[in-house]
Amino acid sequence: MRAVLMGPPGAGKGTQAKVLSHDAGVPQVATGDILRLAREQGTPLGRQAQSYMDSGALVPDSVVIGLIEQRLREPDAAAGFLLDGFPRTVPQAEALDALLGTLSRPLQDVLLLQVAEDVIVGRLSGRRTCPSCGRAYHVESDPPPANGRCGTCGTEIVTRPDDRPETVQARLRVYAESTAPLREYYGAQGILRQIDGLGTVEEVTARMQAALRR
Ligand code: AMP
Repeated sequence: MRAVLMGPPGAGKGTQAKVLSHDAGVPQVATGDILRLAREQGTPLGRQAQSYMDSGALVPDSVVIGLIEQRLREPDAAAGFLLDGFPRTVPQAEALDALLGTLSRPLQDVLLLQVAEDVIVGRLSGRRTCPSCGRAYHVESDPPPANGRCGTCGTEIVTRPDDRPETVQARLRVYAESTAPLREYYGAQGILRQIDGLGTVEEVTARMQAALRR
């Protein structure tokens, strides 16, 4: 599998990417997770990314492209990968094509998860996240354990700073302006698969797996 999973914030990319990458035996490569880890560890990358992330803006292309180039050259990505949250701009997509061309491993599928904006706002405002393993919960549909700790790894669950309502609006704007044009970019390459992101996790996973088989 050499695939990209894209969609607006709150479409379910992280949740689906965990399942699909596990089933396919390839690493899930999530730029958001890499950047959050760097921020928590206080590395130069993390300090550079922090203000962009907290305001819902995109981290500069050069920074995330460098990250991905490094990550995809690691041995575990040789057998395949599922990119989650990258690319988010046309220049990022062009850089990815150039890199994969050099490695003679072109992209096979781009899965676009589609979810209406009112549903997204509801999902993000109730989202709670494990800062350690990235597992997502929702206060109503999938509440975190009563002790406030992640059921998978035991770390204290948090609300991501960029899931605050004012930041959510900014992220949706950024998606519409910078990321949505990738639909045309990958549509023109004939590798775009559009998937309805509404329904249970299992229903959406089944749709994605069917799209990957086609
Ligand atoms: P995510 O967890 O994918 O929603 O990403 C969280 C934040 O990390 C985004 O709002 C951006 O600030 C930053 N980020 C993640 N991936 C990218 C990317 N491919 N390009 C630019 N910024 C990114």
